[in-house]
Amino acid sequence: MIPETSAIRQTPAWQQELACAISDPAELLAALHLDPAWLPAAQGAAQLFPLRVPRGFVARMRRGDPRDPLLRQVLPLAEEHLAAPGFSTDPVGDLAAMASPGVLHKYQGRVLLTATGACAVHCRYCFRRHFPYTESSAGTDHWQAALDYLAQEPSLREVILSGGDPLTLSERRLAEFIRAAAGIAHLERLRIHTRLPVVLPERITPELVRTLSSTRLSTVVVIHANHANEIDDAVIDALAPMRAAGVTLLNQSVLLRDVNDSAGALVALSETLFAAGVLPYYLHLLDRVQGAAHFEVPEDEARALMQQLTSRLPGYLVPRLVREIAGAPAKQVVA
Ligand SMILES: *Cc1c(COP(=O)(O)O)cnc(C)c1O
Ligand code: SF4
Repeated sequence: MIPETSAIRQTPAWQQELACAISDPAELLAALHLDPAWLPAAQGAAQLFPLRVPRGFVARMRRGDPRDPLLRQVLPLAEEHLAAPGFSTDPVGDLAAMASPGVLHKYQGRVLLTATGACAVHCRYCFRRHFPYTESSAGTDHWQAALDYLAQEPSLREVILSGGDPLTLSERRLAEFIRAAAGIAHLERLRIHTRLPVVLPERITPELVRTLSSTRLSTVVVIHANHANEIDDAVIDALAPMRAAGVTLLNQSVLLRDVNDSAGALVALSETLFAAGVLPYYLHLLDRVQGAAHFEVPEDEARALMQQLTSRLPGYLVPRLVREIAGAPAKQVVA
């Protein structure tokens, strides 16, 4: 029998960190010295979509400030119960686009795999908050159905691992996929959409960096940060070895009411990302998912913000403002 202590030692630090993420609203409020009056609403909305936030991310929030821009992304609120016209459970038509379980082929030349349903953090505005991942994850059968799809579709150049968060998968499961994908001759690029470098930087282990940089595929990692306060020294230190290993680093954000809906917040985000070796890619208008209407910033206001960004930043630090429209051949640039 293996003594318990050695079993604990074998669990990577990031998996332990992931396992001890905060999921109890009372604990989150207490950690931030917030008024317990927020608790009933938080507990109620956590029934709709559970609270989940890693402790390291909570540590970047301001204590005693219910309007903290990081807290607002994760704290369940009573507003999530409100139905709003135009907001639905599958706003981007993912279920219709599913070519095989976990395989979303909407755009030419690239295919997106929902590799797993698990995330390290539950973002309240997430368009996949109602998504039936258990039936539709590409990683569950050791990738076989997804790999078959990739192999028989010669128009594909790029495979995107998304989710959920693909970096919640074990090293072994990821490496298994990358090795098999690299064996498909028409594929040239591997892209990973992940929030882990931001919310759980411990995940970027030397082993992961080796896995990402030792494949013949060109690797792009698209992180997801919405506010400059998310990028602390631990995040910067996690990104540096990936960049040094030749991984292209991009960021996508969602434009969110009371999180980053000011030119100042967006300028600071772009500048902070660049200093960390990351270029801004997309700024998404909110997908109209049920329970997230209170996060919406109207399109006119978004356009006005973009004009300010364009006048204050070099072009390469201005993200493209986009909206996803179900059935469209690409993300639609809002100009
Ligand atoms: C967003 C998305 C992509 C990626 O689009 P890019 O414009 O290449 O970033 C690919 N497939 C699906 C299904 C998507 O939703
Ligand atoms: S990490 Fe991404 S997929 Fe997961 S809840 Fe947040 S936005 Fe959604």
